[in-house]
Amino acid sequence: MVSVAIDGPAGAGKSTIARALAGRLGYIYVDTGALYRSVGLYVLESGRDTADPAQVSACLDEICIELKFIEGEQRVLLGGRDVSERIRTPEVSMAASRVSAVPAVRSFLFDLQRNMGKTNSIVMDGRDIGTVVLPDADVKIFLTASPEKRAQRRWKELREKGEQVTLQQVLEDVIQRDYNDSHRETAPLRQAEDAVLIDTSELTLEESIEALYRTVRERLDLPEGEENR
Ligand code: C5P
Repeated sequence: MVSVAIDGPAGAGKSTIARALAGRLGYIYVDTGALYRSVGLYVLESGRDTADPAQVSACLDEICIELKFIEGEQRVLLGGRDVSERIRTPEVSMAASRVSAVPAVRSFLFDLQRNMGKTNSIVMDGRDIGTVVLPDADVKIFLTASPEKRAQRRWKELREKGEQVTLQQVLEDVIQRDYNDSHRETAPLRQAEDAVLIDTSELTLEESIEALYRTVRERLDLPEGEENR
């Protein structure tokens, strides 16, 4: 089994790029942010305070999260309900960022993530995949872009979905989430020592996918067309 770990800040294009890369390699794409988002959604819906670690930890026993893959697409089930779309709002993004700083949440989601790589070749993206979840990943990539570029991309995505937000709000959210993600005590966002840094600020989506694909092939020492194993 081959594992490719992709980490980086919010809005660097990780999920779109990782999904396309996985498709090209014939691997399963695992979006770990969806797991933290599902915990965030649960805490919000149950009326608890996402900023209070004690309240967040106290409800973990009630939470059941499962990942399903339907025609290669990841779906997240929260207590049996498919929340894959529901977890994409800015409110849930911020809740996810908050609950992900709680150590009990990280250990709650650890096994689920770790086990995915045991039976499948995967491309997994998140914040601590190369550093904590899959420290022995075959390829590690740290994907980044400037905060302004990342905010612009997120803003476009949200507007296409009909969300009413300003670019300034999205930029503030990106900066706040970067701060939360890299300053938390448990598993802060940082580049693994053996990760390849790729900055997508000046790259198109296609160029970014190509850059990652080339990196993976070089690292795995694979000639073109022989990545499915
Ligand atoms: O990647 P995405 O924006 O969906 O992640 C939502 C939030 O979940 C992030 O802001 C981050 O705080 C958290 N997260 C994390 N570790 C991961 C994936 C996501 O802490 N492996």
